[in-house]
Amino acid sequence: MTSQRTRNRLIQRLREEGISSEQVLDVMASTPRHLFLDEALAVRAYEDTSLPIGYGQTISQPYVVARMTELLLSRARSLQRVLEIGTGSGYQTAILARLVEHLYSVERIAPLLEQARRRLRELNIHNVEAALSQGGFGWPEKGPFDAILSAAAPSAIPAELKQQLSPDGVLVMPVGAERQHLVVVSRRGDSDQFDVEKLEPVRFVPLLSGVVR
Ligand code: SAH
Repeated sequence: MTSQRTRNRLIQRLREEGISSEQVLDVMASTPRHLFLDEALAVRAYEDTSLPIGYGQTISQPYVVARMTELLLSRARSLQRVLEIGTGSGYQTAILARLVEHLYSVERIAPLLEQARRRLRELNIHNVEAALSQGGFGWPEKGPFDAILSAAAPSAIPAELKQQLSPDGVLVMPVGAERQHLVVVSRRGDSDQFDVEKLEPVRFVPLLSGVVR
């Protein structure tokens, strides 16, 4: 159930659904998603669905992970310093870490963060700095970032995240309350102007402030 063959079937499905970045598909084909789930759910790891990871949170759906990563890769000019918001299980972190230079990741639920850190260590991923969120959005002390990806949805684009973008930096995130869409926000050069592109509908857990210890 957790073999390479099962994983390859998922990759085939992602292709059929329109994911075309070979880089993203390669990394997903070699990242064991079952290691980011509780044992009882591991058999479902290669279904294209989000699954519970405890604390009311979910591991993102593989299609959405692929789509957001592909968007990030195609839109960002540089991928030296990248921020992920919502480490969760650590699955999207593991994917991104293999495609960018240095990855920063913040999570607001301490036990999830600890577990994700352990998994990343076990997979020998060492270019990630993961930390407990300081209660706000993003990680301003480590910014600015060439790209930011959020796995949790705010009801509107947070100004503090736009401010953490480098010149020409891009932010890929779900936005909306009842109905959410994927949104790409791009900083215009080094100005304080941003272009916003609204893409397909998605379903994510909400971006929340505060910390759970
Ligand atoms: N990419 C993760 C998704 C986890 S769900 C995975 O595939 O496992 C989204 C995560 O965002 C949750 O773990 C939630 O606790 C976290 N989150 C929500 N608001 C946050 C905030 N303001 N800062 C950091 N993390 C946040």
